[in-house]
Amino acid sequence: MAADSSVSRRHAFIGGLCMCCSAALARRTDTSVGPFATHEVAAGIHIRRGVDQDATLTNGGAIANVGFIIGRDAVAVIDPGGSRLDGERLRATVREATRLPVRYVVMSHVHPDHVFGAAAFEADRPQFVGHVRLTRALAVRGEYYRKRLEEILGKDAAGPVVMPTVLVKDRTEIDLGGRVLALTAHGLAHSDCDLSVLDHMTATLLPADLLFVQRIPSLDGSLQGWVKELSALEDLQARRAVPGHGPSSVDWPSGARDLQRYLHILLRETRQAIAGGMDIDTTVQTIGRSERGKWKLFDDYHGHNITQAFKELEWE
Ligand SMILES: [Zn+2]
Repeated sequence: MAADSSVSRRHAFIGGLCMCCSAALARRTDTSVGPFATHEVAAGIHIRRGVDQDATLTNGGAIANVGFIIGRDAVAVIDPGGSRLDGERLRATVREATRLPVRYVVMSHVHPDHVFGAAAFEADRPQFVGHVRLTRALAVRGEYYRKRLEEILGKDAAGPVVMPTVLVKDRTEIDLGGRVLALTAHGLAHSDCDLSVLDHMTATLLPADLLFVQRIPSLDGSLQGWVKELSALEDLQARRAVPGHGPSSVDWPSGARDLQRYLHILLRETRQAIAGGMDIDTTVQTIGRSERGKWKLFDDYHGHNITQAFKELEWE
């Protein structure tokens, strides 16, 4: 479990569960488990765009971009959604699109807005695929995330923590029948367990939260690692990418430009602050202000990102 409440609160914040933004007293108007709208961003790749908010009762935790890829023989869900309800709606959307079996549910990383819909797919008996470090990350944080999500969405709405059944240590491929997806387990970056997917057939990259567009990124792994992993992804032969948050599809690699700029500013200005003897509180109040106005939810996450960066860089 998370060591103390302050650590836990940070984890919750990073996972898109900012309590200060939650409309816990609001009434959810849509309680149906019917399908939702998706965009077919490339042949057979269907993506639901999440709203640029933290999880609330009103949005039901449907804040991340999630979807599925249809092959000749089977379907891979790529991120099962932000709650049991979100997962159930995604499953209904898959069933509306195809009768093929859901053979894989890829869980891109530990954050609740991406993985809490997994329980909705257990009846399909898929392989739940995650980074080799995902099991431990879910063991440490999963129950805490579940409780916080339940506080927002109501009893039983969050869904149980589902553990991965297939772990990716470096790279692996999954075959949907005439359609091979390349999965890569990344080093510390957005989180400590980021898994990306590349669909060779359409040259579409699904990097989940390794790519934020329009919504400010949240740093929960390593700033230097994220810059490195993002640069490596930019070198891939991909035509488009599906961000974890933002539009359902962007051109690649140009779609990573804003994120790279933000991360480099954070890196450069945090190093300058540390070199100049600035303390962490002043640094949080001071740096990266040129990015304000360029990102949604800037005030909710930017200070936290600086704190993370400062702790990472102060001993280098
Ligand atoms: Zn995330």
